[in-house]
Amino acid sequence: MSDCVFCKIASGKYTSSKIYEDDSILAFMDIQPVNKGHLLIIPKKHVELITDLDDETSAKMIKLANSINKALRKSGVKLEGVNYFLADGEAAGRKFSIHICT
Ligand SMILES: [Zn+2]
Repeated sequence: MSDCVFCKIASGKYTSSKIYEDDSILAFMDIQPVNKGHLLIIPKKHVELITDLDDETSAKMIKLANSINKALRKSGVKLEGVNYFLADGEAAGRKFSIHICT
């Protein structure tokens, strides 16, 4: 999708503060965080809906969110909770993010 900001981030056309990257997913800090530590996890493949994504990639996104959550809890960073937010479809905001509640 030529006008998709997430595709531009995934391709490297837009810079991002990357936390994790592999061949199919990318995690980076949100430039408009709702709180400290707000990060996004996206598939590199453009899809309109989560249901358009293959099960392996969507499972990798959840697994990465859990790994980041565990790492944060072991890090000593002050946090009282972690929110996972999943928005499916453009009208919903189309993103998967983690919010750290301090
Ligand atoms: Zn896209």
